[in-house]
Amino acid sequence: MAIIVQKFGGTSVADAKKILSAAHKAIGAQQAGHQVVVVVSAMGKNTDMLVDLAGQITDRPLAREMDMLLSTGEQVSVALMAMAIHSLGHKAVSLTGAQIGIKTDSSHTKARIQSISTERLGQLLDEGHIVIAAGFQGIDENFNITTLGRGGSDLTAVALAAVLRAEACEIYTDVDGVYTTDPRKIPEARRMAQISYDEMLELASLGAGVMHSRSVEFGKKFGVPIHVRSSFVDAPGTMVVAEPEASGQPVGGAALTEDEARVTVSDVPDQPGTSYAILSRIAAKNISVDMIVQNVGAEGKADISFTVLRNDLPLATEAVTEALGDLGAGTLDYDDQVSKVSAVGLGMARQTGVAHQMFRALSDAGVNVQMITTSEIKISVLVERRGAVDALRAVHQTFGLGTPPATPGPPVAASKGAAVPDALAPDALAVVTRLAGMEDLVIEGVVLDDTQARLTIADVPDRPGIAAAVFEKIAAGGLFVDMIVQSSGHQGRTILSFTVPAQDLETALGLTGEIAAEFGCGAVTSSPHVAKLSVSGVGMRSHTGVAMRMFKSLAELGINVEMINTSEVRVNVVVDGRHGQQGLACLQQAFADVLLS
Ligand code: ADP
Ligand code: ASP
Ligand code: MG
Repeated sequence: MAIIVQKFGGTSVADAKKILSAAHKAIGAQQAGHQVVVVVSAMGKNTDMLVDLAGQITDRPLAREMDMLLSTGEQVSVALMAMAIHSLGHKAVSLTGAQIGIKTDSSHTKARIQSISTERLGQLLDEGHIVIAAGFQGIDENFNITTLGRGGSDLTAVALAAVLRAEACEIYTDVDGVYTTDPRKIPEARRMAQISYDEMLELASLGAGVMHSRSVEFGKKFGVPIHVRSSFVDAPGTMVVAEPEASGQPVGGAALTEDEARVTVSDVPDQPGTSYAILSRIAAKNISVDMIVQNVGAEGKADISFTVLRNDLPLATEAVTEALGDLGAGTLDYDDQVSKVSAVGLGMARQTGVAHQMFRALSDAGVNVQMITTSEIKISVLVERRGAVDALRAVHQTFGLGTPPATPGPPVAASKGAAVPDALAPDALAVVTRLAGMEDLVIEGVVLDDTQARLTIADVPDRPGIAAAVFEKIAAGGLFVDMIVQSSGHQGRTILSFTVPAQDLETALGLTGEIAAEFGCGAVTSSPHVAKLSVSGVGMRSHTGVAMRMFKSLAELGINVEMINTSEVRVNVVVDGRHGQQGLACLQQAFADVLLS
């Protein structure tokens, strides 16, 4: 009999009436012939309330006790949900994470799932029970209760769907699907019928809170069809599957991370190992960094800027201060009034001009772009927080995201009609058998592209419109731009670097020189031959150590990282072209233990 997993978020179980309504949904699915597992979150804002309560006792609660506290929210919900189902005349059993056997590592408050036993679940389902599982929690090897990180009930749901080989995982929430951007911020946003795992992953990690990004990693790794839909209206929602909604469209969605902070470390030695020295101190505190940009400055000195979540800023500055102590040089500067706006799309990699269209739209909206990083499937910019929603709107509008695509992608049956995977897909099986823990990092490949050249414009004035002008001109010249990074940090000095095919370098230099002169920028320099080294896989960003391993192994060989960008599925670094082959070999070795072959 086909299994279905239904997950109800906090607002969907906020009071007794809503719990009963969710219970009806579960019973309905059982009556339609499914075995049903229900995953529930804490009621309403219960978890926030518990966090607040802890804060009233101490500002430094032990993470273990925090988990003990937070896990109670879900325990309340499962019991009530089971009672609701009993009251409607059906069989149900509630289980905590520990009772199910969700084993995690011991990193309290952000634990990772290692394994899930299915025996007890299977038995209860076979006996005709609806199983009610507490979301967001697990247990470590010493029987300590752990939690999976805020929003982690999604993860419990998708992980259970994966191990039970469920037909689908339904995520019931307070919106009726995944929108092109957060509909509460941009009312013109449109519900998508379908979205690819990679786009959803990227959007989730860039601020689209509708799904927890690690749950989408799970979905992708194990091929679980995810159906995001409304708890309150009975209508089809959004299928998160392998294929995107529309082919040929460069951008599928946009996202905003409002509470970001920029950290800039200036005047550090421009030598291999400097970035590693700084970023490893940050990784040691388990802080995720994004938008890492390194600029080569004057007199053998470099600047490194990156962003962290604003909440992580105190810890990040502490880490940087330690690193500056190690390096014996450098200064620290930060801005905690910034937000990150991103455009995401699988089609971006194959089209020119996406970046300049975004920069132009931002410039027309009067938004000054403080930092830029791009990857194959996303462009992120850092802007002042005050204008961030306007910036998001400008991006949403310029890519026409409010309008349904003209050429829809292949249709995907909603959960009822989806094919039941009778076994995990072969590659998923390969993954599972090789992993010690289900959420472990998986690397699919390490590749070298040594066909590109890099251009850098120094001292770009810090005002709207310049990036737009540069990339419009380059696109009008018919050139393809791959990586773009810009940082504005120290004393308003902005440096813009990008890569083009090596054979187009002369043309690009001519066009860039004209723009630089027109806007009063500094010198344009270039490197005729750079090597782009890429590591791709699943969990690239949520495992903070990936970029670190790359920096470390390259630094050990004395190779300097000139540019970097990260996405959920790939980390790219640019190094001097002479080091391409050596860099490739060293990265292959560095990731040998997690490389799928
Ligand atoms: P739950 O408690 O059910 O897990 P969440 O609050 O975690 O619900 O997620 C649902 C919310 O995600 C919506 O209310 C919406 O404001 C927000 N959201 C952010 N980005 C998007 C998006 N692209 N599409 C839909 N909702 C989004
Ligand atoms: N209750 C937890 C939280 O609020 C988990 C979840 O809702 O997904 O973060
Ligand atoms: Mg959620």
